[in-house]
Amino acid sequence: IERDSLFRKKHGIHILGYAVPSPLQNFDELKSRFGCKSHLLRNFLELKFKEPTPIQRQAIPILLSGRECFACAPTGSGKTLAFLIPMLMRIKPGRKGVKGLIICPTRELAAQTTRECKKVAKGKKFHIKLMTKELSRCGDFQKIPCEILVSTPLRVDFAVRKRKLDLSRVEYLVLDESDKLFELGFVEQIDSVVKACSNPSIIRSLFSATLPDSVEELARTIMHDAVRVIVGRKNS
Ligand code: ADP
Ligand code: MG
Repeated sequence: IERDSLFRKKHGIHILGYAVPSPLQNFDELKSRFGCKSHLLRNFLELKFKEPTPIQRQAIPILLSGRECFACAPTGSGKTLAFLIPMLMRIKPGRKGVKGLIICPTRELAAQTTRECKKVAKGKKFHIKLMTKELSRCGDFQKIPCEILVSTPLRVDFAVRKRKLDLSRVEYLVLDESDKLFELGFVEQIDSVVKACSNPSIIRSLFSATLPDSVEELARTIMHDAVRVIVGRKNS
């Protein structure tokens, strides 16, 4: 415990919550502590990142321990892998329905996150889909194989309302850049997506670069017992 807090201090990691899992010392712990399959670990190592970033060190063990996470770290600090790694380790491919849902504020970010996800999932029999305009208008997700879906709020909300997308089996919900989601005024869509993700054992997480009151409020309303992780200054 003492060792953990020294280690966190060294990496500028601030936490709030009870029984917070120890931060990762290195990527190999994904295997030794959390049973990461070798081929996935190989994909992570192929990215040639020597060490996890501070937000990855703390958010990954939290999510892998089945806890919800409210993570704030500056832009460029590696938040994408912090939520992709646990999702790819825990979601089983080949079962029906969307299991992982990532909401991004813009189409560009959604496309970029999809590319990164596919790269890291290489060799795993996952169907990773970017919600395009066509998919949200005409796609029927009862028929489209898709375990991990990346979307903007409007498109996913549209598909859910048309009853072409069932989110009741989502195990991991990520609201990425949640500060921007609010700035862009997606409150209503986020609300309806959170409601549609009705699986009682869902693990929600919120990633953000800044901590405006709106994000704090959302974290409070949608998550229970979430561990809060803040890296660096509060409003960088
Ligand atoms: P954020 O979402 O926090 O703004 P990203 O997830 O987009 O940041 O990552 C920013 C950059 O850092 C990307 O180019 C990514 O590939 C790289 N990166 C991610 N994890 C690591 C790591 N552990 N070590 C070095 N670079 C990393
Ligand atoms: Mg990001």
